[in-house]
Amino acid sequence: MTVNDATRGTAGGYEPGGAAARQARERLEQERHTRTAELAVLEHQGDLHSDEAALARFDTLRKTLEEVDAALARLDGGVYGICEGCGEPIPEGRLEILPYARFCVRCQQRRR
Ligand SMILES: [Zn+2]
Repeated sequence: MTVNDATRGTAGGYEPGGAAARQARERLEQERHTRTAELAVLEHQGDLHSDEAALARFDTLRKTLEEVDAALARLDGGVYGICEGCGEPIPEGRLEILPYARFCVRCQQRRR
């Protein structure tokens, strides 16, 4: 596996330090940047004590940030992109839209 090899490992995971993992990390860090900025705006402008919508948004953002951090940890552990439900690789397209996804679409739907 060379540094320029963007293909995923045999288990479907992202080889730590590989190009695919780097791309995923960039997406996650971008996501964290965006969410952190939104959170800061809410904290300064939103009335989190009486505005329920602002509070709900605040909670969602905080949870998303936790998910982003968990995804970064999975990336470091070499298990990023593996569905936690069935152990199958999560399709690339889904990870592009939702870089911190823990489950494939099928397992996610089953959890509802
Ligand atoms: Zn699954």
